[in-house]
Amino acid sequence: MRRKQVAIIGAGPAGLMAAEELSSSGVDVTVYEAMPTVARKFLMAGKSGLNITHGEDYALFTTRYGASQPRLKQALDRFTPSMLRDWAHALGQETFVGTSGRVFPRAMKASPLLRAWLGRLASDGVEIRTRHRWIGLGDGTFLFETPTGPLEIRPDAVLLALGGASWPRLGSTGEWVEELRNAGVDVADFQPANCGFDVAWSDHFRDRFAGEPVKSVTTTSSAGRFEGEFVVTRHGVEGSLIYAHSAALRDSLSATGQAVLTIDLAPGRSEERIERDLARGSSKDSLSNRLRKSVGLPPVKVALLRECGSLAGMSASQIARLIKALPLSLDAPRPIAEAISSAGGIRWEGIDDDYMLRARPGVFVAGEMLDWEAPTGGYLLTACFATGKAASNALSKWLAHGCT
Ligand SMILES: Cc1cc2nc3c(=O)[nH]c(=O)nc-3n(C[C@H](O)[C@H](O)[C@H](O)COP(=O)(O)OP(=O)(O)OC[C@H]3O[C@@H](n4cnc5c(N)ncnc54)[C@H](O)[C@@H]3O)c2cc1C
Repeated sequence: MRRKQVAIIGAGPAGLMAAEELSSSGVDVTVYEAMPTVARKFLMAGKSGLNITHGEDYALFTTRYGASQPRLKQALDRFTPSMLRDWAHALGQETFVGTSGRVFPRAMKASPLLRAWLGRLASDGVEIRTRHRWIGLGDGTFLFETPTGPLEIRPDAVLLALGGASWPRLGSTGEWVEELRNAGVDVADFQPANCGFDVAWSDHFRDRFAGEPVKSVTTTSSAGRFEGEFVVTRHGVEGSLIYAHSAALRDSLSATGQAVLTIDLAPGRSEERIERDLARGSSKDSLSNRLRKSVGLPPVKVALLRECGSLAGMSASQIARLIKALPLSLDAPRPIAEAISSAGGIRWEGIDDDYMLRARPGVFVAGEMLDWEAPTGGYLLTACFATGKAASNALSKWLAHGCT
């Protein structure tokens, strides 16, 4: 009997995980990738240590996917963070839980894991064709642009793992949206997730402090209260502490045109203590010097205070209140090309419980091209792996049951 032919389009974490699953199910698997090499975003994630998953309690872990939790839960249950760690260990990559609970490979990069993974896929018979960009959907056919000209394939089933729309230079450009919308697939517009924000800094502040970290602060928005640090950029603010608030701030900007992040510049000290420290400073000192010497604020925090409010004429108690709850107004999210991930993509209504497109039976989807979002912390990669696995298992069953 002819072996079934399965095409996976997109060789990121979701597509490669699907290839691994399908290669052991008796079908011929070919992965098509637009870029000259595979998994570029995965390798980029490795530059900051490859936070592959999170070690917190699993029930809490699943809540990080917000409104998408009910749809993602089944896939996550079948590839939990501890299963993911076992999988990495089997590829020769020990992992460890960092102080924040985030899980990393000991190598703190993606390349050794990817090398071992690609070796396993090759020995399982998976064929990977790079420089094959999918450009069109026909009636059961898929058209590619390749270095040797156009190529049309008619596989028995297809799994799309084309990624979201952040960092397009790594391959995931989001160009697939139009083609799938034309095919009747319900796709939500992409938006930046885990992103920085524009702030209307004064020229003086921008020139003096761009690149400077603002350390040990507590920040509050409707997303909650988080401790950490962020970085002042020429455009505004960036960093993991900002990303933790980014979905809430982005949604507030699009709903009301406004978003405010409240910053506690001195989390270890009470308002009363700061007021006393300010009053104790020498009256000969300027206010900036008293803030620096008596309150212990570094220049960037003093300048931030001045950026966000005129201190002239303020009493010590008013300044202390501002230090504990500085309102930073944000103008807009940074462009999606700079964001760590994207929100938006194929809506859950557009697929069935088995990750198959309702508008295109036989076409399954996985990874960041689906409409879910999560904070940084390893949640993104975990869900990409888990949906790659879930969609490919469903695809195998669909083939086994005569494509119905
Ligand atoms: C700087 C950075 C750091 C990150 N760090 C982390 C981290 O530490 N932890 C974490 O959990 N997540 C992290 N992420 C997010 C994570 O890398 C992504 O969520 C994940 O890679 C998405 O996987 P995916 O397989 O869905 O899509 P992608 O990894 O985007 O892969 C999609 C693939 O499809 C290919 N493709 C697209 N269109 C076509 C087409 N038309 N034809 C053929 N191929 C096509 C692309 O070239 C790409 O190779 C980071 C992201 C960035 C940008």
